[in-house]
Amino acid sequence: PHLEDKKHVFLSAPTGSGKTAASLYAALKHAYEYNLRVFFATARTTQQLMAEETVERMAQKGIPIRAVSIRAKEKICLHHEVRCLPDVCPYAAGYFDKLQRNNTLQSSWSMHDSRGDLWPDKIIRIAEEQYICPHALSLDLASMADVVIGDFNYLFDPSVRLSMVSAEPQKWMVIVDEAHNLPERAMGYGSPRISLRLVWRALEGTRGTDFAQPLEELYSYMLDQLSESKEKEWSFEIADVDSKIFQKWVTAFESLAVRYAQVTQERTFFSEDEGDLWTDVARTIFRFSAIFSQAKDETLVLYTKGYLDRKLKSSDQLALFSRWKPKDEHTSLALLNRDPSGILGPVFKDFHSSIIMSATLEPMEYYRNMFGIPQMHRIEVRTPSYFPQEHRASFVIPSISTAYRDRERDREKTAMIIGDIISSTPGNIAVFFPSFAYLEQVVPLIDCTREKVLQQKRGLSERDRHELLETMKKGEGHTLFGVMGGIFSEGVDLPDKALCCAVMVGPCLPQANYARRKIQEWNEKKYQKGFAYAWLVPGLARVSQAAGRVIRTPTDKGTIILLGKRFASKNMKEFLPKELILQTTYNIKPELQSFWKTHSGN
Ligand code: SF4
Repeated sequence: PHLEDKKHVFLSAPTGSGKTAASLYAALKHAYEYNLRVFFATARTTQQLMAEETVERMAQKGIPIRAVSIRAKEKICLHHEVRCLPDVCPYAAGYFDKLQRNNTLQSSWSMHDSRGDLWPDKIIRIAEEQYICPHALSLDLASMADVVIGDFNYLFDPSVRLSMVSAEPQKWMVIVDEAHNLPERAMGYGSPRISLRLVWRALEGTRGTDFAQPLEELYSYMLDQLSESKEKEWSFEIADVDSKIFQKWVTAFESLAVRYAQVTQERTFFSEDEGDLWTDVARTIFRFSAIFSQAKDETLVLYTKGYLDRKLKSSDQLALFSRWKPKDEHTSLALLNRDPSGILGPVFKDFHSSIIMSATLEPMEYYRNMFGIPQMHRIEVRTPSYFPQEHRASFVIPSISTAYRDRERDREKTAMIIGDIISSTPGNIAVFFPSFAYLEQVVPLIDCTREKVLQQKRGLSERDRHELLETMKKGEGHTLFGVMGGIFSEGVDLPDKALCCAVMVGPCLPQANYARRKIQEWNEKKYQKGFAYAWLVPGLARVSQAAGRVIRTPTDKGTIILLGKRFASKNMKEFLPKELILQTTYNIKPELQSFWKTHSGN
């Protein structure tokens, strides 16, 4: 009924409670009745897969669904590199002609699947057969679908928002899955950065032509600002920003754009490896300017990152630049938008209705503030955990410190405790660290009696991730070492014996840097909750998500262990899920042995 009232429903429900199926069913029922469309927005591919499975199950039950799932370009690109220009990529060349000739948009639905769901593997198959870009095809097919599954970006990032949504937002019912990720993402949308290296290379490439003019001004502005910075102050805020200067550069780029496109038909300014740096700079400056015009000034911080030595001769400076990697962003100009409500609020206002759901929407007050949806359009629903409390035991072990400065000192003890947990748990176990660096520091020291050890590696491929999950699902007593906020700690289903214990090593607070301190400052000023909103809520949301992997069905049994003394502090407990009834222990072995004595084989 809330959806009929065009409301935005904040749904806080524990992991494994069937949110995906329930929300999709409710939204679809309503969508068919009122001629609306459903967008299921996710933060990662694993959630997209779950939504696809759910839609498939609904279709098998006879619900007539036309659904499309959109994957990121990088994940389904058929070319050897993602460069979507007709003269570079053969799948982009003649795209519309091929589409028309083959009647692709009509024939895709019936030709490949009578049920009418088009998932990425099917779209790739069609694209391969017809030699067209699968990503462009998925977007075109999405414009015909009742249900679209895709990343948050397609709805909320102003630079990639789908035109079919922005043209008629009132026609869309939106489900935001794992919504706890959206505020941080939205801050990212409003926080572009441009490196001095990029501007310098773009300028070098076009020097002596009219196209260099806006670059020269931008470059000299950046040099001035960066030379103000001091080595000890790696970043500093630029005071009294005149945002009109960005608009002026936008106008200059716009006035040159058509001629630039014509000239680059005949000649290139940059090497093939570098790509089109002039356009890269222009796009980024457009983004700065757009954010200055949309966001409230007090939410924005324009700041420098890195510094330049004023005493350096210009020839030395150039030598220094040329050693930097093309994407080097250490010395750059950055904009930070500290208030996601300014980005999200106006977008939600235009949707017909939405379900904003997660197992980690507490404290609700934080999410209320971050989403910027007024009270009169908002409904809050909390569902309790239906799983028997006695199936789960949760512990805090405060005997070590996971603070950055203490990690080296405590790493052997940390490894020893993890070893004890592993040897006292009769089943699959996952140990999650706040970072790969910390994981690599501790894991080699763990005296792991088990042979079956799996480790999450940086940049793991989809295939490797899938294989690793399938191995865990066999429930043969594996130990997985991974990171919080990563692909194994959120949005994956590890029911029954696939996971019996999750250990979270430290509270996974965001990285300490200038931007984070500025976010803290803003939240302190606006809500008097600087530390909580900037650090604790995002950090503990990752912990709660990882903890939520253990109990996925009413018959699952398992233990959740928070390792580190910071978990014992009162202000941390306030932000952890209420269903975690934490017991403090300095000796975990007997606790686990006693739990599993009662629960093994039941
Ligand atoms: S047009 Fe498509 S296939 Fe070609 S590079 Fe871009 S994403 Fe890849």
